[in-house]
Amino acid sequence: MAVKYRIDRALCVSCGTCDMECRFGAIQISDQGKFSIDTETCRGCGLCAASCPVDAVLKG
Ligand code: SF4
Ligand code: SF4
Repeated sequence: MAVKYRIDRALCVSCGTCDMECRFGAIQISDQGKFSIDTETCRGCGLCAASCPVDAVLKG
């Protein structure tokens, strides 16, 4: 099973870069503009974590 990622909302500045990078549509945006990762859809590629400017995407 692929490594899963999650977004630390305390660190996330809602820039949207991870959403643009994810090729699988696993990044979700809430009505409040908060970003999160749908772990069912996430393939664990790590592109979001590599692209996040504030290191808000964490493993596990
Ligand atoms: S690890 Fe890959 S598939 Fe999962 S949310 Fe990040 S960019 Fe998308
Ligand atoms: S790239 Fe990082 S700071 Fe930007 S929306 Fe995604 S998790 Fe938040």
